[in-house]
Amino acid sequence: MWVVFISAGIYKLFSPKDEERIEVIMRIRWDKGYICPFCGSRDVILKGKKKGRPHIKRYKCNSCGKNFNDLTGTIFAKKRMSLGEMFYIIKNLKNS
Ligand SMILES: [Zn+2]
Repeated sequence: MWVVFISAGIYKLFSPKDEERIEVIMRIRWDKGYICPFCGSRDVILKGKKKGRPHIKRYKCNSCGKNFNDLTGTIFAKKRMSLGEMFYIIKNLKNS
């Protein structure tokens, strides 16, 4: 499991650059393709980029019609988190 984290460049989660952190989160979260966080559908289309944070992509679910972005439904949507919280959510992302 930890090998996966390292190969995914997980250390970048601690980068001061928002872009690098988001890149790692996306790689882990969407490694099996895009899935709607509301209904679980894979019928998801890319809608563009988040205003003010262009490295975060926006999506729309064709099944339930809801919009979401790379951080929706994750603890990463919060500004600050502890190390423990960070690894907890990474574990959940991988297991879900
Ligand atoms: Zn949906």
